[in-house]
Amino acid sequence: MTGVIFDIKRYSIHDGPGIRTTIFLKGCPLSCWWCHNPESQSAFSEVIYRPDRCIGCGACEAVCPVGAIALTQRGYVADPDRCTGCGECARVCPAEAREMIGRVVNVEDILKEIEKDVLFFDESGGGVTFSGGEPLSQPGFLGEILKACRERDIHTVVDTCGFAPREAFEKIEPFVRLFLFDLKIMDPEIHRNFTSVSNELILSNLQWLSDQGAKVIIRIPVIPGVNDNEENMEATGKFLAGLPSRPEVNLLPYHASAREKYRRFGIPYRMADISPSSGERMKELSDRLAQFGLAVSTGG
Ligand code: SF4
Ligand code: SF4
Repeated sequence: MTGVIFDIKRYSIHDGPGIRTTIFLKGCPLSCWWCHNPESQSAFSEVIYRPDRCIGCGACEAVCPVGAIALTQRGYVADPDRCTGCGECARVCPAEAREMIGRVVNVEDILKEIEKDVLFFDESGGGVTFSGGEPLSQPGFLGEILKACRERDIHTVVDTCGFAPREAFEKIEPFVRLFLFDLKIMDPEIHRNFTSVSNELILSNLQWLSDQGAKVIIRIPVIPGVNDNEENMEATGKFLAGLPSRPEVNLLPYHASAREKYRRFGIPYRMADISPSSGERMKELSDRLAQFGLAVSTGG
């Protein structure tokens, strides 16, 4: 079985317990305004163009087998409707102005990568984390790797936005030691406005995981002016306090580090006017959620 990944990060200490290897799967059903990995949203391999690096040699236009690339006022731009994602233009570009994002791998390839780090896992209490994108957007591929990790007694974490069919969660839940579950906004319409989908399925899946006794840590990205208001904090606190497992909560301050990535990739950044919350504000929000009897931490 194969899947599409766009990165592997080793020695991570923010994606679950201990030292971890994080595998980033491509594809996400959400389109959050503050997404830090905009290159992960498409489920397919794709070529990103960085006009600021382009030296105008035209090699990409010449090599493209489907004639998708043309010189425009924005440089050598590919027509997304014609591009097949073959990667030839990235291969010949002498200036690294075109970069292939995503590669097809099979389960054995990934297991080999994971097994290189087993010593670190054993010494630190770590393991492997599947992130993205949304790892559950490739449920068959994810399930196979998780099962193989369980057979090798490798600790597994799945970092999810929660928006996936229930059957996908049912399939992987027995092989996951910890879910890092993103909870963004409690109002369904505001959620839809900022992420492109309603939150009903997300909340339902979180309730189901909690009912199963799955170990879950809630991660809330604190986006000033979007979800850091009293109404959302109260609704969040009430919902989480009503779950049987009363999960731990981790508040993640918004930071603007993705801005440069959007600029490089030529993608409009919709959070341009937002500034990160102060430490004092993060403490206030943490204290507010703690009033619901929840264990709350801040930072990634
Ligand atoms: S990825 Fe392939 S099809 Fe797409 S623009 Fe580049 S060369 Fe053309
Ligand atoms: S091959 Fe690279 S440097 Fe040459 S025109 Fe295409 S993007 Fe620019």
